[in-house]
Amino acid sequence: MALGAEGSLRQRAADATKRSATTAKEAVTTVAGDRPEGSQVGKTWGRARDVSTLNVLICGTIMLTCPLLVIYTWMSCSSFGCSLAAPVEKALAKGVWTLVEEDFPTPTADGFKLYFAWLGFQALLYSYLPGKIGYGQMTPAGFTLPYIVNGLLAWTVTHALFIGSSLGLGLFPASIIHDNWGSLLVASNVYGYFLTVFCYLKAHVAPTHATDRKFSGSAIYDLYMGIEFNPRFGKYFDFKLFHNGRPGIVAWTLINFSFAAAQYQRIGYVTNSMVLLNFLHAVYVLDFFVNEDWYLRTIDIAHDHFGFYLSWGDSVWLPFMYTLQSHFLVRNPVDMSWPYFSFVLALGLAGYYIFRAVNHQKDIVRRTDGQCTIWGKPAKVIRTEFITSDGKVHRSLLLCSGFWGLSRHFNYVGDLTISLAMCLTCGFNGGALPYFYIVYMTILLLQRISRDQERCKGKYGKYWEQYSAAVPYKLIPYIY
Ligand code: NDP
Repeated sequence: MALGAEGSLRQRAADATKRSATTAKEAVTTVAGDRPEGSQVGKTWGRARDVSTLNVLICGTIMLTCPLLVIYTWMSCSSFGCSLAAPVEKALAKGVWTLVEEDFPTPTADGFKLYFAWLGFQALLYSYLPGKIGYGQMTPAGFTLPYIVNGLLAWTVTHALFIGSSLGLGLFPASIIHDNWGSLLVASNVYGYFLTVFCYLKAHVAPTHATDRKFSGSAIYDLYMGIEFNPRFGKYFDFKLFHNGRPGIVAWTLINFSFAAAQYQRIGYVTNSMVLLNFLHAVYVLDFFVNEDWYLRTIDIAHDHFGFYLSWGDSVWLPFMYTLQSHFLVRNPVDMSWPYFSFVLALGLAGYYIFRAVNHQKDIVRRTDGQCTIWGKPAKVIRTEFITSDGKVHRSLLLCSGFWGLSRHFNYVGDLTISLAMCLTCGFNGGALPYFYIVYMTILLLQRISRDQERCKGKYGKYWEQYSAAVPYKLIPYIY
């Protein structure tokens, strides 16, 4: 590891954390007084501050019930072959308490050791593996933060070690994650809630960037949505990137692999559906790490504050709910016919192509300040201004040709297509559980469209209206 080179890179990058726009793509043009027409005055764009009682109630309910939903799906797979109805039927027949006693996950020392060793190992890789420095989007308070981009290396090291130690050296069974799934669920919930409370307290007593905090006036809402925008340990240990990328996304493919190993143990071979599922998830996960620098400028990093939504979401929801299809396939092996296999593969790859191509167009147009061609023609852009909370006015641009001329979120069409293909690997004979992912992604992305709409309207004012008039459809041209 080139510690010296890395050290000097970090030193250079440290300067970028100062309140300054000098490293940002958006140049500072003037100071307060000359605000972009229609942009928010007295507060900057970003998360809502004035939340309704209903909103607070919804957030509180989600925090209390979401873990139960995850436990429910775990129980339905572990005890009832992934039938969603069976746990309810048992509760009705024998009482809820019997269900809890007999079918809820129980903590074990091994599960806890495994979980916290995994977390610690990922934290070490995140902190010490070499990587280039990437920059996030300018925050509402005017910071442009540096990130160490070493996710691809962390993913490779983790998978090589896991596969080498289990299949190569036989130190533990490759199905170890599957074998400890219930206890891992308990451990990750403990961590997810701990992290939520820790971040809430940290935001009050030791914030990383005090001016980028948002207080709603409701402790419940603040716990749920987070107060700090980019909580960090030191200059580089970024909570958001770490928790989303490592215990979340690195785990995704590792979990699938372990469940494929469990399927092999059970039936003596790995079905083509399990192979295809592993492949499609791996394409999606690897894309994330190959393009980790791009990810720094997506909504997760550029908009969301760090509360329960991300801390518990990354620790529990992502690894446990995004991998449901592999849990299903262990209990309900599906041998796909080759025409069906080819169809699902083609659908998945088409979805991936759209997803990547749309995201690439936005990235390239921003990186070249609009001086590029899109689909063989000069990019059409709307040049915009926005204001940060220090009163400075900055410039940016919105692409309105290519995929971004078809609809305002055509990248979500690609994402939904590949998500559907992942679910289709499970066939149609096993009930609804494997299709949870596509239903959830549809709700998530539709909600994102409306959140992003509000955010961009606040950030860009009249420029966003111009863009919305030029590109009227939000997702699917002529439909929505
Ligand atoms: P986008 O990458 O579409 O980012 C939206 C932001 O891009 C806006 O807030 C705005 O930010 C900027 N923007 C909007 N319109 C334009 C335009 N015309 N030209 C240039 N910039 C524009 O959304 P996400 O971050 O939600 O998603 C990124 C990818 O990640 C998507 O492909 C999505 O499908 C995927 N995803 C996957 C999830 C999963 O759980 N699997 C969850 C969420 C997303 P600004 O101007 O401030 O830069």
